[in-house]
Amino acid sequence: MFEALADRLEGAWKKLRGQDKISQSNIQDALREVRRALLEADVNLQVVKDFVTEVETKALGAEVITGVRPDQQFIKIVHDELVQVMGQENVPLAQADHSPTVVLMAGLQGTGKTTATAKLALHLRKLERSCLMVATDVYRPAAIDQLITLGKQIDVPVFELGSDADPVEIARQGVERAKAEGVDTVIIDTAGRLQIDQDMMAELARIKETVQPDETLLVVDSMTGQEAANLTRTFHEKIGITGAILTKLDGDSRGGAALSVRHISGAPIKFVGVGEKVEALQPFYPDRMASRILG
Ligand code: GDP
Repeated sequence: MFEALADRLEGAWKKLRGQDKISQSNIQDALREVRRALLEADVNLQVVKDFVTEVETKALGAEVITGVRPDQQFIKIVHDELVQVMGQENVPLAQADHSPTVVLMAGLQGTGKTTATAKLALHLRKLERSCLMVATDVYRPAAIDQLITLGKQIDVPVFELGSDADPVEIARQGVERAKAEGVDTVIIDTAGRLQIDQDMMAELARIKETVQPDETLLVVDSMTGQEAANLTRTFHEKIGITGAILTKLDGDSRGGAALSVRHISGAPIKFVGVGEKVEALQPFYPDRMASRILG
């Protein structure tokens, strides 16, 4: 499973092979390779530092297992730590005790937020959970049209009040509509900007305060690499996220953003986007992502 890391560590291991246990002096080259692998996968630098320190502590504290070579043991420690940081298991979407479950989508423009809104609605529909999507991005009328088009495609209704209405009011009324119609889950698509901006954050905070979502999902473009860390930190501090969707994993990104997002926010990545089509959404599995990150 981790042949790539094992290959990469080959040189580093020469020091360790003849030894019977991991020690401070014989482990340094291997730690350097892990650090390099994570940086190449675009994991945020501070996250890499924390991670490598943790691996070192665990490796030095690990008991010698008879019959297991120290290099194999080390690789297992790296893998297990990656999986642990990313949350061990898949965490499903929250479901409120009383309908509707309210899901708020947050993120920058172009990350795939609107697409992810429709992907999520289709995913829930397949689970026989009825959905209503709410279009609050009044700054880009094309965004409302985009959601309406996607809604038709997947046969999920869209609530909108055009581009002159107040986004907070649209969100409020959208949830009211879902309640009145007994809809299971309402997914609120929000405006994104090209960069984090105060107005966007303030508006999101007002929407959140008004609709009291069960789930606030940050949509993160996996291709943004290092930036994913800053983005997560800001959104988590200002809004508070309960989960994330990592998009564009069908590209050649190694997915290091997954580690950064989880490490920084503590919130689980719940889904990954693997294509432009509405069907291209998969649950997030930490062990699969660990393999991908280690390359
Ligand atoms: P928004 O501005 O955040 O709402 O972003 P959109 O949903 O409009 O998506 C921006 C672009 O990214 C569109 O061209 C989408 O088709 C594309 N996109 C979204 N998710 C994915 C994904 O998982 N993989 C790929 N390859 N493209 C995606």
